[in-house]
Amino acid sequence: MAKKVTHNGSADSQSRLLSPTYARRAMANPISKREMPEGELDPRVAYQLITDELMLDGNSRLNLATFVTTWMEPEAQELLSQTFDKNMIDKDEYPQTAEIEMRCVQIMSHLWNAPEAETATGCSTIGSSEAAMLGGMALKWRWRDRMRAKGKPADKPNLVMGINVQVCWEKFCRYWEVEPRFVPMEGDRFCLNAEEALKLVDENTIGIVVIMGSTFDGRYENVKEVNDALVNLNKKTGYEVPIHVDAASGGFIAPFLQPDIEWDFRLPLVKSINSSGHKYGLVYPGVGWIVWRDKDQLPEDLIFHCNYLGGDLPNFALNFSRPGNQVIAQYYNFIRLGRNGYFQIQKTCQDVALYLSNQIAEMGPFELISDGSDIPVFAFTVRGEGTGDANFSAYDLSDKIRERGWLIPAYTFPKNREDLAVLRIVVKEGFSRDMADLLVSDLHHAIAYYKSQPTHIPKKAGHTVPGAAFHH
Ligand SMILES: *Cc1c(COP(=O)(O)O)cnc(C)c1O
Repeated sequence: MAKKVTHNGSADSQSRLLSPTYARRAMANPISKREMPEGELDPRVAYQLITDELMLDGNSRLNLATFVTTWMEPEAQELLSQTFDKNMIDKDEYPQTAEIEMRCVQIMSHLWNAPEAETATGCSTIGSSEAAMLGGMALKWRWRDRMRAKGKPADKPNLVMGINVQVCWEKFCRYWEVEPRFVPMEGDRFCLNAEEALKLVDENTIGIVVIMGSTFDGRYENVKEVNDALVNLNKKTGYEVPIHVDAASGGFIAPFLQPDIEWDFRLPLVKSINSSGHKYGLVYPGVGWIVWRDKDQLPEDLIFHCNYLGGDLPNFALNFSRPGNQVIAQYYNFIRLGRNGYFQIQKTCQDVALYLSNQIAEMGPFELISDGSDIPVFAFTVRGEGTGDANFSAYDLSDKIRERGWLIPAYTFPKNREDLAVLRIVVKEGFSRDMADLLVSDLHHAIAYYKSQPTHIPKKAGHTVPGAAFHH
């Protein structure tokens, strides 16, 4: 039952109840915040209540932390909202949405140079993380079949990757009981290389994950170098270790900005590729993709066939129901922008990233870890932090710049460069050259501020994210 509450109630009642002043006429009483209220609200009041609260979220356009799309055209928004009701799984009810999904897969298989003779296959997902789970499972299943065919035990699979992988690969390994084998960072090498990766490969290796656009600093790993070395190793040992490319960000950058880099199905050992439609695919969250080079790479026993929506629905996914409108928005971008449109947008992002990284390099206290010439993402560190040269840390700068609304994350690199604290900037469509200039000016102000505080002691770690407590 609703508790009786007075308006000058205790702090406790205030934290449990919603009672905005403007709604006094529409809302006779405050309503419970964390329990489902007994009665109804006028829809306009409910709408206002929630929009007001969300004003305290950051402004997504000033969020330089995220890789995820924060701006789409009004026409795309309209299309998205007209198609909210379409359930991606229900291919019998929405056959055109299903058809559009398959067209997107074909578009990507061309974009990623799948050989004509081999028929690529794939599907949409909720993001690259789900795509990684599906890609990883296909690797594991195929490895297990190979081992069984040879009469060998198949109970100790491992996956080789750089320590700079996105957390989804650690999740994959833990959830699907695969031993992760990480190539650590070393000195100025911030990602995996062929030599170190191959040292970790044995007959139980289900695959090597190579990243096109490292989460930590935006750089590309050298897929061709790994492919060529692995071709030799496979020949010498009789292994059949394949490569999966995690192109979460690079999958929609490299084909337009660096078409000559061979990282995709042009390389024979690249058997599958994932990418995030909601990153540089330029769609709002959440849509991701996985494409296999040919049907053999996706074991039949991973595919479920169900008939209770009518018709036979072959399905390989972790989710069942999922929004179809994001897939439609992906197709909108493909036909609306075409290759030239994508090129123009990605090139503009890259120009802004290079301009901004160059400006930051010239400020004095910073050193670039990357400059945005692979994907338009770069990381930089505070030079001589803690040695007396700089009395502020990456964390201080991140906090200071946030006063102006900019979200620029500071974090440390993984093993063996935990000593390195960096700031990272992701340049996306919607972050203009003008905004870059505003940011440059705010960075100058932040530096001047710390100069004026000679006794400031550099902060050692980041803030705890409010509301991020995990209830368990
Ligand atoms: C973002 C990212 C992921 C995870 O993708 P989501 O679409 O957010 O699930 C995986 N790998 C890399 C390299 C990424 O940048």
